[in-house]
Amino acid sequence: MSAQTTIFTTMTALAEQTGAINLGQGFPDEDGPAEIVDAAVAALRSGTQNQYAPLAGVPPLVAAIRAHQQRRYGLEVEDVQVTFGATEALSCALLGLLQAGDELVALEPVYDSYEPIARLAGATMRRVALHPPGWRLDVDELRAAITPRTRLLLLNSPHNPTGRVLDRAELEAVAALCVELDLIAVTDEVYEHLVLEGEHIPLATLPGMAQRTLTISSVGKTYSFTGWKIGWASGPAALVRAVRAVKQYLSFAGGTPLQHATAAALDAGDLMPDALAAALRAKHDRLVGGLSAAGFAVLPSQGTYFVCADAAALGHDDAQELALRLPHEAGVVAIPVSAFVADPRGETRSLLRFAFCKRDAVLDEAIARLARWAAS
Ligand code: PMP
Ligand code: GLN
Repeated sequence: MSAQTTIFTTMTALAEQTGAINLGQGFPDEDGPAEIVDAAVAALRSGTQNQYAPLAGVPPLVAAIRAHQQRRYGLEVEDVQVTFGATEALSCALLGLLQAGDELVALEPVYDSYEPIARLAGATMRRVALHPPGWRLDVDELRAAITPRTRLLLLNSPHNPTGRVLDRAELEAVAALCVELDLIAVTDEVYEHLVLEGEHIPLATLPGMAQRTLTISSVGKTYSFTGWKIGWASGPAALVRAVRAVKQYLSFAGGTPLQHATAAALDAGDLMPDALAAALRAKHDRLVGGLSAAGFAVLPSQGTYFVCADAAALGHDDAQELALRLPHEAGVVAIPVSAFVADPRGETRSLLRFAFCKRDAVLDEAIARLARWAAS
């Protein structure tokens, strides 16, 4: 495994060194709902909720995850495993479901943790490109990435870093392929509630998919507590069992008071996440307006915290190099999309990913800085 630090860590460190506004690593600069913080404090003070959790997760959280999947999507899940963020759920899923020599397919640009974990499992990750500017999934390209060794498809929608939310036609095509070729699907749905346009459709809701899909999500994005790292995997018993088998030795079970607070958040219904999505929609529009005015060509984004912008419109072809200069020259940090692809010279080379999950005043200051920089 590479000993390099992740692009997120690198760029956040650069923001701290230079005092630049950090629109790189995706985290909100405001806490989530006070009621949920209160639930965490109450759990910490309860005298009964600070010891090891049961391996699967504390019962109220397991029940709340089941109820959420049923209420929001009509899914009856067979089993649930609570994890240390979606990251651990993904890691346990790949380690538990893949054998040495297996292959998996993921959408490129691809979230940074997938491939290193696949390698730890001895498996090989193949990529199917979402092409800019529309980032649609081409099902023929997906089929071409699948080989006789392919065991699973790892699908991230809403998609980081592009902000693409796959539509029903794309998901139906994915489902048909999984059924035809007898593939397992693992879905990374951490941005499930942060949809700005269209709707999020879990792959597990499509015909034939509930019995072959492991669905992963977490509290971080939905409630603006990215540091809590309470995640979960749900789905068919055999797939969840594979996650649990790894998790029991990787970290066993903890975060007990935050698990209780997450249960309270989920049990409060979907009003909070819907309000967050509405607030993010306005922030998205604010940042897109500012980036466009500064001269970037902004690509469409239907969800997540992120929007991608093409710096070629400003005469900069190499976003990797630009991302290292921008904190010094403009006082703003963004992430080069090429950090998520195999070929950094390819079609994403001039794209930067900007996070818009920040206070309006922070976005306005970043926009003003970028405008001054672009004009100079
Ligand atoms: N998947 C994607 C696509 C993400 O963007 C992130 C991070 N934020 C994660 C997984 C990890 O989620 P968590 O913080 O819950 O581990
Ligand atoms: N998911 C966050 C992002 O895409 C980063 C999380 C991390 O630093 N690993 O910005």
